[in-house]
Amino acid sequence: MQEKKLICGLCACNCILKAIINEDGSVKEVKGDPESITGGFACSKGRALTKIPKAKNRITEALVKQKDGSFKSVTMLEALELLAQKMLAIKQDFGASAFAIHSGQAAVRRQFSRLTGYFSHLYGSVNYSGIGTTCNVSKRIAYTMTMGGLPKCDYLNAKTIVLWGHNAPNTHPYDWQVIKNCCANGAKLIIINPQKTEACREGCLHLALKPGTDIYLAWAILKIAAQQKWFTEQNIAATSGFEALVSSLENLDTAEMLDHCGLTLPEVNKATKLIFQATPTTIMAGTAIELQQHGFQTARAIAIIQAMCGTKALLFPKMPPAYAPFPVKPSFNGEMVGATEYPVFTDFVGYAQSNILSKSINEGKIKGLLIVGGNPLATWANSSVNQRSFAKLDFMAVMDNFLTITAKAADLIIPAACPTEKYELLECISSTGEVYLNLSEAVLPAKGLNEVEFFKAMADLLGFGEAMPWQNSLTYFDYLLKPLKLNCQSLLQNSNGFHYAANRKLQDIQKENTSINLTVPKLAEYGYSTLPLPPVYEKPAADQIILTTCDKSRNLVHSRYRNVKELVKNEEPTLKLNPNTASFYQIITGDTVQIKRGEHTLLAKALVTENITEGTAAIMHGWANCNVNYFTRLEELDAISGFPNSAAIPISLKKYGG
Ligand code: SF4
Repeated sequence: MQEKKLICGLCACNCILKAIINEDGSVKEVKGDPESITGGFACSKGRALTKIPKAKNRITEALVKQKDGSFKSVTMLEALELLAQKMLAIKQDFGASAFAIHSGQAAVRRQFSRLTGYFSHLYGSVNYSGIGTTCNVSKRIAYTMTMGGLPKCDYLNAKTIVLWGHNAPNTHPYDWQVIKNCCANGAKLIIINPQKTEACREGCLHLALKPGTDIYLAWAILKIAAQQKWFTEQNIAATSGFEALVSSLENLDTAEMLDHCGLTLPEVNKATKLIFQATPTTIMAGTAIELQQHGFQTARAIAIIQAMCGTKALLFPKMPPAYAPFPVKPSFNGEMVGATEYPVFTDFVGYAQSNILSKSINEGKIKGLLIVGGNPLATWANSSVNQRSFAKLDFMAVMDNFLTITAKAADLIIPAACPTEKYELLECISSTGEVYLNLSEAVLPAKGLNEVEFFKAMADLLGFGEAMPWQNSLTYFDYLLKPLKLNCQSLLQNSNGFHYAANRKLQDIQKENTSINLTVPKLAEYGYSTLPLPPVYEKPAADQIILTTCDKSRNLVHSRYRNVKELVKNEEPTLKLNPNTASFYQIITGDTVQIKRGEHTLLAKALVTENITEGTAAIMHGWANCNVNYFTRLEELDAISGFPNSAAIPISLKKYGG
């Protein structure tokens, strides 16, 4: 028996695991490594890591679409040559930036997102985009503009922990263990979520607001704190723009804000008192915060609450590590998708806001598309618009593990190695805000290319192979690690890998004489309000309920791996409904319900539960057979970041056949 190291990348906890390998090379089991910083923890997802490559719909050979829509298998070399030929033709006829390249969720915290951007720029296209178009980056920009960086919660040193739109038990199971221990040691817990999650059973204060009303709650909290004089002199002194904040609060009607949220003054008063009086307070703003129509300003408003209650329980991990720069500085130009519509996003992150790629395709500006490890037809806003626009492309290629709905729409499919079939260099941020560089080993034979091999082969075919001098992932990682005096071998010798950066506080990232920006003058330069003022409230129509798709079960991962039976078990698309809402529509648990928005109708099973507020419904996104992104709209993208509104979608519903 042999042991190999695996780092689980299925959530941001990045648990360190061990794969126990039988004599014949098969995997006996995957379990947590007790010697590591994650202390031997492994949730059901981590333990199933090596089952993923064997799931149905696995792509194991390159496939080219025929005229009749069927796929024909070709050799890998033929597939890569076809892709190179199409890329060169589009470059010659329309310019390199007419070919867009996107790396999806598979690249998160891995090295190939940077590599994809580098490859795109070497080819000459400005239109690279990453998963940050729909996850984390909107919040990152909002916090960076406010306090200089996106913090990690310092749970261990907090007396009050706020999980705002963050369902830690299901989305970050290891972190949830840490939070539970903190609560057992006396920390107060506040959950702000339309649903009663598992975390609410820990004796916490639960603010069950209506989906998408978080910005009104944030302003009500600020108003209550101002009236109670809970802003300390020290915290005020650390900020700029306090006078503007106070003046905006003067005419704010707390009762009106709370009415939008469906919350009462006593419960919000109690939460506000804890946030400002039982300090240090740490606020974990989840992804649901940014996936709202006003998500960017919602994140800004929450960052302001954090600034005004103090930043002692925040850590600012040092990222990215000081890797070796790429050997060549590419020259590229062209019109970046989203640069006109969402310049705050594109200026900050330096890549395209691909949520509006369909617009550029329809305008004839984008002719080709390569998707690496992503499934935009299931995950980007407004699937039907994307389906129609992708069909207009001259050429589309997808590199993935499975035959997703996006892969099925492609002209060329390239089989990708699964995480446990390749070495992966990961940047792991611990629950104490420390950064570890770590290497996950290949434990199973690869049934596809890894991204380093793929981009290297493509670079050779496109004529810029010398700019990618590495032959495989290990030589690429060794290249990156050289300035840190590390290599793959040294990372494997220690279960935690390399401890790159210790805890940093706000003062460590601030330059001299800087302060926390309650008002952000730079936003005015872009034409937006310098304060995240509450927008005019739009009351849902009487016959509509509000659907949130920011829901996730503990077993499942984003939209990925719904084909892995060890993860999915008996789960299916399920619409959660409050008993009063269900009774109004004469729906009971187990009924099939018809959900409708505009011309789109979906079917799901009903689950009637007290755990969701009246007048709202929740369903998990990512089901191919119940794709809720038919309900998201490009017209409802956040005006500043271009992020989709997935948290509060007006729908109508009825019992199917009723
Ligand atoms: S908590 Fe679970 S999913 Fe997250 S990294 Fe750990 S094992 Fe993986």
